[in-house]
Amino acid sequence: MVKYVAFFEELGKDDVGIAGGKGANLGELTQAGIPVPPGFVVTAATYDKFMTDTGLQPIVMDMLENLDVNDTKELQRVSEEIKDIITSTEIPEDIQTLIIESYNALCQRIGKDDVYVAIRSSATAEDLPEASFAGQQDTFLNIRGAEDVMEYVRKCWASLFEARAIFYREENNFDHSRVYIAVVVQEMVDAEKAGVMFTVHPSTGEDKILIEGSWGLGEAVVSGSVTPDTYWVDKSTGKLLEFTVGEKNVMFTREDGRTVKKEVPPELRNRRVLSDEEIAALSEMGRRIQDHYGSPQDTEWAIMDGEVYMLQSRPITTLGEAVEEGEVKSRDVILRGLGASPGLASGKVKIIREIHELDKIQAGDILVTVMTTPDMVPAMKRASGIITDEGGVTCHAAIVSRELGIPCVVGTGNATGVLSENQVVSIDGNKGLVYEGRVVEEEKKESAPESVTVESPILTVTEVKVNVSMPEAARKAAATGADGVGLLRTEHMMLTTGVHPRKFIEDGREDELVRILAENILKVADEFYPRPVWYRTLDAPTDEFKTLEGGENEPYEHNPMLGWRGIRRELDEPEILRAEFRAIKKLHEQGYTNIGIMIPLVQHPDELRKAKRIAEEAGLRPHRDVEFGIMVETPAAALIIEDFIAEGVDFVSFGTNDLTQYTLAIDRNNEHVADLYTEGHPAVLKLIERVIKKCNEAGVKTSICGQAGSIPRIVEKLVELGISSVSANTDAVAEVRKTVARAEQRLLLKAARKLL
Ligand code: PEP
Ligand code: MG
Repeated sequence: MVKYVAFFEELGKDDVGIAGGKGANLGELTQAGIPVPPGFVVTAATYDKFMTDTGLQPIVMDMLENLDVNDTKELQRVSEEIKDIITSTEIPEDIQTLIIESYNALCQRIGKDDVYVAIRSSATAEDLPEASFAGQQDTFLNIRGAEDVMEYVRKCWASLFEARAIFYREENNFDHSRVYIAVVVQEMVDAEKAGVMFTVHPSTGEDKILIEGSWGLGEAVVSGSVTPDTYWVDKSTGKLLEFTVGEKNVMFTREDGRTVKKEVPPELRNRRVLSDEEIAALSEMGRRIQDHYGSPQDTEWAIMDGEVYMLQSRPITTLGEAVEEGEVKSRDVILRGLGASPGLASGKVKIIREIHELDKIQAGDILVTVMTTPDMVPAMKRASGIITDEGGVTCHAAIVSRELGIPCVVGTGNATGVLSENQVVSIDGNKGLVYEGRVVEEEKKESAPESVTVESPILTVTEVKVNVSMPEAARKAAATGADGVGLLRTEHMMLTTGVHPRKFIEDGREDELVRILAENILKVADEFYPRPVWYRTLDAPTDEFKTLEGGENEPYEHNPMLGWRGIRRELDEPEILRAEFRAIKKLHEQGYTNIGIMIPLVQHPDELRKAKRIAEEAGLRPHRDVEFGIMVETPAAALIIEDFIAEGVDFVSFGTNDLTQYTLAIDRNNEHVADLYTEGHPAVLKLIERVIKKCNEAGVKTSICGQAGSIPRIVEKLVELGISSVSANTDAVAEVRKTVARAEQRLLLKAARKLL
C-alpha cells in the first residue's frame, strides 16, 4: 500500500525512496532506540500525488526543458515561476486531511496543543553516499498549527525547484522528473547547546570522533556563524584527545516561536561548551550510531535539560586522502584556519563580497569570501581552492568543497581583509594553512603581493549601523563595517523609475514595481548579508513626487509635512504597500531573511495593526518571518509607546528629523525657523528617554535613524539612556563608533568607581 504519511517509528533505512534520506534516517534512529524528537514524514508519494492530481507535473517539466542553467538570470526566472505555481496551487482535500490529522496526532502524543515543529525537505536522492543535496532545499523552523504546517509543506515541495537545486541536478545528470521530495515534520527542540558530530575524521577518515558545539540551537554551527568548539575523541577509549575553544559570538534561540539571533553573553563567548560527561555521552551515541549503520556518520545533536538528542545522521559523503606536504613546509604562512577539505592549490585570490561578483572567478582562481552560500556553488566549482573568514569544518563551504574535491580552509578570521585581490597564494586544505606565492606549479609569479594594513575594529555593545538611500551607495556604506542598515529609505528607488508608484498600480504594472523594488533592495541586502537591513516603507510627502510621470495628480497641500505621507497615506493606497511587502517576501524566499520592515510616521497602534495585516496578506508574517518595527517620529507615538509595544513591535527607531519638527512645531524644511530647530531640545530628549525606558522594560530594541544619530553629543546621551543601536550616515559611522565606545567605557568606569 502506498504510504502518504508515516511516523518515524514506521520508517527505516530502506525507506529512502518514500521518506528521503533524512526521513528514513530519523526512522532508523528511532527504531534503533536513539533519542530523537518525535515526528512524521509527508512522503514522496504525497508530493507525487500532488503534482499529478493537480496536473502540475507536465507543466513544470515543460518549463525545465531546454533551460540553459548557466544563464543565471534565466535560471532564476524559471525557478521563481515554478515555485510560484506550486505555492499558489491548492492542495487537494484528501492530502490536506492527511497532513492535518498527522499533525494533530503528533500534538496529542506530545500532550501539547499546536506543537512547534521544524519542517524539513528531504529529496529522495538526498543523503545517498554519491550525492549531497545539503542546503539545496528549504527548512522552516518554529511552525505551529495545522494550517501553517500545510503551507510550509507546500513550500518545501516548491523548494525542489530552487535555482541552485535545478543547477545541481543538471550538472550531475539527475533527471528532474525522478527526484522527489519528502517532508519531515518534527518537534522543535529548545537546545541549550548543539552542534554536529562526525564519527571519523571528516577529511582523512582517521578513526577518531570530531564534535563541534556552540551555544543555543545548532544553526550557529551549521551555518558557520560562529567558530565552534572542537573536540577530538579517541573512538576506542572514549578519551578526549584535544579540544579548542572557539569564539562563539552569536547564538540562535527560540523565543515565542521565533528563532532569534543574539549575541552570546561575553562571559560565555570563550567558555568551553561541553563537559567531559557530555562529550562521553555524545561519543557513546556516535559509536552506537556508526555501529548501527556500519559506516561513518555525520550527525547533528542537541542538548536540552541535560538530555542528549540526535537530530540527524547521514553517511559521510566524502572522505579525502591525507595530503603530502612536500615543499609547502618551507613557505611563509600568511593565514591560518581549519583544514576543511584536503589538497593543495595555488592561484589568484578573488574576493567575493557579493553574489554578483561571482563572474570574476575564472578557472583556477582561489575564491575568498566571508562564508559561502548555496548560490556560490557554480563559482566554487570553477575555483581551485576556497578560503573563508568564518565557519567550522562542517559549514557550507566545507561540506560542498569536500564533495567537489576542492581544497578549502575555513575560519581564518579575516582572509577577506588580509588577502588582496589578485594576490597569488597557495592553500593546504589539510593543515588549514595559506601560503604566499605559488607552490603547486613550478613557474612562479614575479609580482609580490601588496602589503595590507587592516585597521582593528573598535568593538561596541551598542550597535553602530548606517543609513542607506541609494542602492548604488550600499557597497560604500557596507565598507564602513557598520553592523547593519538602520534605515533603508525607499523614496530614492521609487524616484529613479521616473514613474509615480501609484501609476504602476493604475496601469496594472504592480508586478513590475515589485520587481524593481526587489532588485534595488537586493543590492543593499546582499552587501550587508547577514547583517540586518531595516527597509522603511514609502514615506513621500505629496510635494516630492510631483515631477514623476503620474505625479501631476498629487494633491496640493498647504502643509505637506503634516499631510498625506508615511503609513497614513499607504493605508489609503494599500496596493503600493503591498507591492513593497511582496518585494521583501520575494527576497526572503531567496534567503535574504536579513531584511526587516520599519513603518514610518505612525501615530496610533491601529496603523501598525493594519500594516501588519497587509504584510500577512502578502505572505510575510510579522515577527515570525520578518522583523517588524516602527519609527518614533510623532510625539503621539512616544507618549503611548506602551500601546505600540502591546500591539507588537520588534524594534522602534527614532526619526528625530520628524520628531523634532513635530515636538517643537518647527517645519524642518523652513529656513526661517531653522535656527530654532534642535534635536537636543529637552522636550525631544524627554520623549526619547521615555521610549527607551519603556522599550528596555519590555525587551524591545531601540535605535535612531534621524540625523541626530550622526551627532556625537546626542549619540553619547543616547548610549547613556540605554539605546540598542545607532544608525548614522556613511561618512559619520567611524566617528560615531568612537563616540559610542567612549560613552560605553565612561559608563563602565563610572560603575566601577561606584564599587570602589
Ligand atoms: C526622520 O524623520 O528622522 C527620518 C529618518 O525620516 P526622514 O528623514 O526620511 O523623514
Ligand atoms: Mg521621517
